Amino acid sequence: MRKSVVAIVGRPNVGKSTIFNRLVGERISIVEDIPGVTRDRIYANAEWLNHTFNIIDTGGIEIGDEPLLVQMRQQAEIAIDEADVIVFLLNGKEGITAADDEVAKLLFKSNKPIVVGVNKMDNPQMHETIYEYYSLGFGQPFPISGTHGLGLGDLLDEVVGHFPNEAEEEKDEDTIYFSLIGRPNVGKSSLVNALLNEDRVIVSEIEGTTRDAIDTKLHRDDQDFVIIDTAGMRKRGKVYESTEKYSVLRALRAIERSDVVLVLIDAETGIREQDKRIAGYAHDAGRAIVIVVNKWDTVESNEKAMKEFEKNIRAHFQYLDYAPVVFLSAKTKKRMHTLIPAIKVASESHTKRIPTNVLNDVIMDAIAMNPTPTLKGKRLKVLYATQVAVQPPSFVVFVNDPELMHFSYERFLENKIRDAFGFVGTPIKLFARRRQ
Ligand code: GDP
Ligand code: GDP
Repeated sequence: MRKSVVAIVGRPNVGKSTIFNRLVGERISIVEDIPGVTRDRIYANAEWLNHTFNIIDTGGIEIGDEPLLVQMRQQAEIAIDEADVIVFLLNGKEGITAADDEVAKLLFKSNKPIVVGVNKMDNPQMHETIYEYYSLGFGQPFPISGTHGLGLGDLLDEVVGHFPNEAEEEKDEDTIYFSLIGRPNVGKSSLVNALLNEDRVIVSEIEGTTRDAIDTKLHRDDQDFVIIDTAGMRKRGKVYESTEKYSVLRALRAIERSDVVLVLIDAETGIREQDKRIAGYAHDAGRAIVIVVNKWDTVESNEKAMKEFEKNIRAHFQYLDYAPVVFLSAKTKKRMHTLIPAIKVASESHTKRIPTNVLNDVIMDAIAMNPTPTLKGKRLKVLYATQVAVQPPSFVVFVNDPELMHFSYERFLENKIRDAFGFVGTPIKLFARRRQ
């Protein structure tokens, strides 16, 4: 099921990031809650009632040194392109300004549902001025206060009421959805083309979820795949498309819909800081991952070089120790045949279920080998474990006291589960829960 997307637009300082952080809630860690750093986060999950959705803070997408009005216009365009519902935020202490009117005009033409939030209405007396905002033409304006958390419930009720019918866009269970992410020029579009040409059984181009996203079907090795569009694959030539924040946004949206994410690395230029950030998003999202080293034609390609490169990858991406590495060239098609099998393996791992009895045999053997830790004289007791979810495989370990589950012991159990069942290509999750 595709999650709906909400974008917040508005002038600088109306409170976009304050509202964004409120809606994202405790998921923003304290470490990230430093001025300037919070703005690194422009896309996140949010929840309201029984809806989970994604939210974009368009104010975080800075577009070069363009004049303010141009930037705002582009941020509004991004919202129109990416979102199902747009929250148009104004400053209730200042009223409607000329810049607000400009944005309103653009939003008006978009045919997207617009919900007006009038922020900084910190006390009820201020609500008298709310009528002024009807003149924008988007219906009922909602008085809110980001700092005090007032009025957000009514605003969100309105927002979720505009979500498209979520049941309509069901994913096909038997199809593997994958996306390609990586820095500009690593070869994402070349690799997609190579996959499609090599194969010559493109079934069709199916309508994507946003107006101009195109998903491509592919049938290979008795398996249906859908390649999800990512930034860089279609260059429409809009100014904001070249900004890093926007490409991150597109990558995150593609990751969201993927079962398997291919993290592309350029063999010619080697591993860069940006590669690590990009891979981190896929890992955090709990997707299956295959690392693809593209442009393998540009280096001397023998077994030894591969081993060296892989060692380098392992050192840089320690958290991705589960991800298989594939070396290929989208240009010469060398070693292209290694890609699809790796995607299939990662997807199988991602959806694999381990029967409870088999799992417990492994856990109990592990405990016998390496006794559980103690804290202040109290020993951790593991009662039993069970797999509670797939995509990614998630396990609950029932214990006498979760506080006693030391991080390193958790890692140890995770490793034992991996040793026993493989799970190549997928992260796994382990939770300790109390059971007397
Ligand atoms: P953005 O540029 O639109 O993302 O705005 P920010 O979220 O960075 O907020 C700009 C300023 O307005 C900050 O100093 C906030 O603390 C302040 N602010 C945000 N929401 C409220 C509110 O509801 N009431 C008041 N009084 N100040 C607010
Ligand atoms: P994207 O921005 O990630 O979509 O990258 P492109 O697919 O547009 O490729 C960027 C450049 O790298 C183009 O000039 C491609 O021809 C080149 N390229 C892509 N794959 C390979 C490859 O496997 N080997 C070599 N030598 N060049 C490649």
